[in-house]
Amino acid sequence: MAAPSSRPDAAPGARYDFASDNTAGICPEAWAALTAANAGTVPSYGNDEWTTRAADLLRETFATDCEVFFVFNGTAANSLALAALCQSYHSVVCHELAHCETDECGAPEFFSNGTKLLTAAGELGRLEARHVEALILKRSDIHFPKPRVLSLTQATELGTVYKPGEIRALSDLAHRHNLAVHMDGARFANAVASLGCAPADVTWKAGVDVLCLGGTKNGMSAGEAVVFFRRDLAREFEYRCKQAGQLCSKMRFLSAQWVEMLRDGAWLRHAAHANACARRLEAGLRDIPHFRVMMPVEANGVFVEMPPAVAAALRAKGWFFYSFIGAHGYRLMNSWASRPEAIDAFLADARTAAANAQP
Ligand SMILES: *Cc1c(COP(=O)(O)O)cnc(C)c1O
Repeated sequence: MAAPSSRPDAAPGARYDFASDNTAGICPEAWAALTAANAGTVPSYGNDEWTTRAADLLRETFATDCEVFFVFNGTAANSLALAALCQSYHSVVCHELAHCETDECGAPEFFSNGTKLLTAAGELGRLEARHVEALILKRSDIHFPKPRVLSLTQATELGTVYKPGEIRALSDLAHRHNLAVHMDGARFANAVASLGCAPADVTWKAGVDVLCLGGTKNGMSAGEAVVFFRRDLAREFEYRCKQAGQLCSKMRFLSAQWVEMLRDGAWLRHAAHANACARRLEAGLRDIPHFRVMMPVEANGVFVEMPPAVAAALRAKGWFFYSFIGAHGYRLMNSWASRPEAIDAFLADARTAAANAQP
């Protein structure tokens, strides 16, 4: 399996519609928030009204008195959260495709001063209890780093989603073995929009102790929130943020975006739109010979297999997308900004490419 590091060449005039959900721009609500937050002078380093309001809105959104921190990106959110949960001699159990394992350049290990990541296999990007438990129980001697955290990604790196009961079962397993539960929610909004549940149902009510909630891929210019449902785990977390260069001095430009995203549900509307675009793309691709949809489309990603000649023809047409699974598996991401016309244009090119690939 390859993470999206196998980059196709970027042709001039290439179209990045399906390359990632962070190729999209800033959504209208976040943009308006930047303008609103730009008026006048306010206290810095998060001691402003926007930041207080954003944290309160997150507590409302999750219907619980959680502790909230705002950082610039997901790598920092995950790494600092994991570092807060671990000593250097601990380990983190995660999926073999987890972003913290494959795409964070060792930041979790770095910020935790050596905590080891232990990876488990699992169908469709989801962890499975039997593999997780085997990994936790594999060693209990002093010569091996002690498992301390279970890290889940919701929605997963393969565009699938854990149901509340699945999270509950994995959390119970983790807690039974004295592990804390961390959730990488870079695409949490897509998961909640897909499940149609309350945010609490797939987090603290299902046993999640800390959530890294993504804003960037859902339309903000930057910004993720680290949400501690167990407040005791957040002790001195502000120092970690500052030391890691993650304390924004003009914090209002991060927090105001959260306010506008959360205030009237824009975060879920944008995620639902991205998910619907993924389903439209999937439906179209299912009708084209040579294309095979590889994963259930439960969030905003479509994973599809196509022959190399077809992929090459699409890329020659200017479509930029990543190889993701095996030799012929590709990832097509959708975002708040995805347009039906772009999907239809891609499908038309896909039909032509597939027809030309016929013997
Ligand atoms: C994008 C992403 C992140 C965050 O990545 P940054 O580039 O550091 O913001 C974290 N986890 C997952 C699953 C992601 O897809």
